[in-house]
Amino acid sequence: MIKAQISELKELLSIPQNIVIVPHKNPDGDAMGSTLALYHYLKAYQHNATVIAPNDYPEFLKWLPANDTILIYETQQEKSEALIHEAQLIFTLDFNALHRTGEMTEALENAVATKIMIDHHQQPDDYAKYTYSDVSMSSTCEMVYNFIEFLDDLDKIDSTIATCLYTGIMTDTGSFRFPSTTSRTHEVVGKLIAKGANNAEIHNNVFDTNSYSRLQLLGRAMQNLKVIPELRTAYITLSQAELDEFNFKKGDTEGFVNYGLSLKGVIFAAIFIENQQDDIVKVSLRSKGSFSVNQFSRAHFNGGGHDNAAGGRSEESLEATIDKFISILPQYKDELSPE
Ligand code: 5GP
Ligand code: MN
Repeated sequence: MIKAQISELKELLSIPQNIVIVPHKNPDGDAMGSTLALYHYLKAYQHNATVIAPNDYPEFLKWLPANDTILIYETQQEKSEALIHEAQLIFTLDFNALHRTGEMTEALENAVATKIMIDHHQQPDDYAKYTYSDVSMSSTCEMVYNFIEFLDDLDKIDSTIATCLYTGIMTDTGSFRFPSTTSRTHEVVGKLIAKGANNAEIHNNVFDTNSYSRLQLLGRAMQNLKVIPELRTAYITLSQAELDEFNFKKGDTEGFVNYGLSLKGVIFAAIFIENQQDDIVKVSLRSKGSFSVNQFSRAHFNGGGHDNAAGGRSEESLEATIDKFISILPQYKDELSPE
């Protein structure tokens, strides 16, 4: 973000405004952490700010400070549209294209508000007046920290904001282990702890609140894990019947795909999860090294994301989706075969 834009934004934020803050559909820890952190920051300046999530998010994020102020567009459409309509500023966080907000897309497209994007996904669309996009960043939360720093306001980060930001950096970096984790990330995280983020408690809230049925579902996912050693690929399937059997709740499959990637020698992992309600198969892709799952997902599964973590979807049956996946893989033989 260039200096002139920062001064313009500073000016815009110098008087209280109606502000809407939006994460992507099926928001994760980074999406919820970054939007709530920004919410608390803007509230400190008396702005009339509201976080509107396109749809619901996992239980393991519902302890975040001010969680109870969040509107869910899917179930509170009228109220949400009124706020979007009245907004002077709309911050869109942790996504790169308006269609990533699902059913909320049209309302956002029609909004007259000035839009500000803060995001770290590849190939951002050009819909915002102010775009702070940096694909090298670990997380949108790290970028919100930077954004507050650009505004010369680091001393405004209190333990509440620090808690939200820590949560998103932790979840998006796989607890600080993905290659996107830099010395700067650790520096920021160190400062957040100094400002009152309770790292052990946050980790506990997010990762150690498993239900018994989720662990059973993980067991089934591990039984379904298949490996294609000659292409260094592993994949998992979960059918709707299996999800039902283990009382699936939103967020229960979060992180499952990483088990495939943890296999010795595997550099490409996928999980295919049937969603009968939406009549799709949700695809999550992860890789190690230079094999870009962002490109793979864009080319074959209507999605995208980052080089090493991307999502997508298929409108075919679970079986047909797997068949398609297996038939595509040989095209990537040069990148996937062992050296
Ligand atoms: P997940 O597999 O956890 O849903 O997503 C992995 C990463 O890819 C996340 O950063 C997520 O925001 C991004 N992502 C997931 N689905 C899509 C999609 O359909 N399009 C784009 N551009 N990014 C996606
Ligand atoms: Mn993110």
